[in-house]
Parts: sequence; structure tokens; C-alpha cells
Amino acid sequence: VKAALPIPDRPQEVTQLAASFNELLTVINQNAEQERAFTSNAAHELRTPIAAIRGHVRLLERRAAGHPEIIPRSIQFIDEESIRMQKLVDSLLTLSRADRGALTLTSFDLVPIIHETIEEERAVLQQPIEVHLMENVIVFGHAESIQQILTALLDNAGKYSPKDQPISVIVTVNDGWIDLSVADLGLGIADADKPRIFDRFYRVDSARTREVGGTGLGLAIVAQLVKLNRATIRVIDNRPQGSRFTVRFQAGNTNSENPSV
Ligand code: ADP
Repeated sequence: VKAALPIPDRPQEVTQLAASFNELLTVINQNAEQERAFTSNAAHELRTPIAAIRGHVRLLERRAAGHPEIIPRSIQFIDEESIRMQKLVDSLLTLSRADRGALTLTSFDLVPIIHETIEEERAVLQQPIEVHLMENVIVFGHAESIQQILTALLDNAGKYSPKDQPISVIVTVNDGWIDLSVADLGLGIADADKPRIFDRFYRVDSARTREVGGTGLGLAIVAQLVKLNRATIRVIDNRPQGSRFTVRFQAGNTNSENPSV
């Protein structure tokens, strides 16, 4: 079915039409460029561990017989790099699902979901986690994806802050919305980087983040899941230092599965 455009009969309308057409073209070109950049980044990110793995396989082929002492280190290296590839492929799949997906949103109590996620993260993170939350916080959203969002934000707080500095999870209830924040006392994020960290493959310092095992897709996935929850996310400086990410959800309705707004 073709959308029918009325043929404009005044020159002014033709000018307006041309302007809208050009705007549309710009958006299409930008999207195509983003697609190209994404594919090329993904290929590059996969190529690096593959090259490293192949290098160690060659090394083992040539030297393992004469120097068996090199074997454990090479095996460890190959293992680490394949884990890295696995993480990247998992992230790419999650992102592609989130890009296509739609979530069924309902009203439910956020509190048990948060406790469950934090208990899992306590086993993973070295930092102590402080929790500030009240009882019965009815949110409108999708429980599993909210757990994914919180896990990703906690993992980042863990990666980018010292091991002895606590990470806080704070929930505040307002009229019509609920804020879920994760605050750390780590490196912080420069103002210039704040809008860009949600971009796919963007990393503030790729050499360092490679060391901590980042893919640059974590926050891109978070941003997409936040959107599917009809929520918003922002990052500000934490006091006295570090970062504070806040996801703002719609408050749920205690009686029905519809949002109260
Ligand atoms: P990565 O896998 O590299 O951590 P993310 O998409 O999760 O990728 O984050 C993008 C970048 O944002 C990170 O590389 C890091 O530079 C920065 N970042 C994310 N969370 C934090 C944080 N809590 N503190 C400081 N920097 C952060």
C-alpha cells in the first residue's frame, strides 16, 4: 500500500515538501552510517581476540614440545580471550533482541526484584553494597529487564570504583514516578563523555576498559532496555566523587496492570 501525498499546488508548499524530504534523507543516511559503523566496530572487536588466540595456538605449535613451561600461560590466555569473545557475542545478541523486542509491562513490587539482584551481585562484586529503599514500591515495567538494567549498572560501578568503596542502590518514590539509582565512589565520568557513554561501543578509555573486560555495549543495552520499559536514564556526578546513574520508571497501579498516569 502506497501512502498518497496530495500534490501541492503552491510553490511555498513545494518548498516545504522538499525541505521535509531532505530532512528525511538526512535521517536515513545517518541511520545507514550508524549501521555501518556498528558492524565495523563489532567485526573489529571480534578480530582482536581471534588474532590473540591464533597467535597463541601458533606459539604452542612451534614451541610447546621443547618448552612445556609455556603451555599453562598460553592456555590461560586463550581461555580469557575466548571468554571475552563469548561476552561480546552474548551482548550483540542481547542488543539485537532488545532492538527488535517489545516488552509486556505490568505493575509489580520492585523491592523483591532489587533484593534478589543485589544478593546475586554481592557474590560478584568486591565492594560492599548499601541499599536505601522502603517497602512496597509498585512500579510499571518489566521485572526481568529491570534486573538486567540493575545488574549492568552494578557491574559497571564495580568495574570503575575502588574495591573498598561502597556502592549504593537508592530507590525514591515520587508522585507518578520511581527513581532507581546506582551510585559509586569511583573514577567519575567527564561531562563531555556523559552523553556518549550510552552509544554502542563507546568507551571513555578503551585501553583501560579493555583491561577491566568491557565491551562498550553494556550501557547501550541498558539504554535500549530502559526505553522498552518506557523509562528514562541519566547520569550525574556523585558526591563526593564517582557517578550516579538514575533510571526513572513510571509508578505502577496497585489495583490494575495499567500505569497510574
Ligand atoms: P564497558 O563494557 O566498556 O564497561 P559500557 O557501555 O558499560 O561499556 O560503559 C561505557 C563506558 O562508560 C565505559 O567504558 C566507562 O568508560 C564508562 N562508565 C560506565 N559506567 C561507569 C561508572 N560507573 N564509572 C565510571 N565510568 C563508567
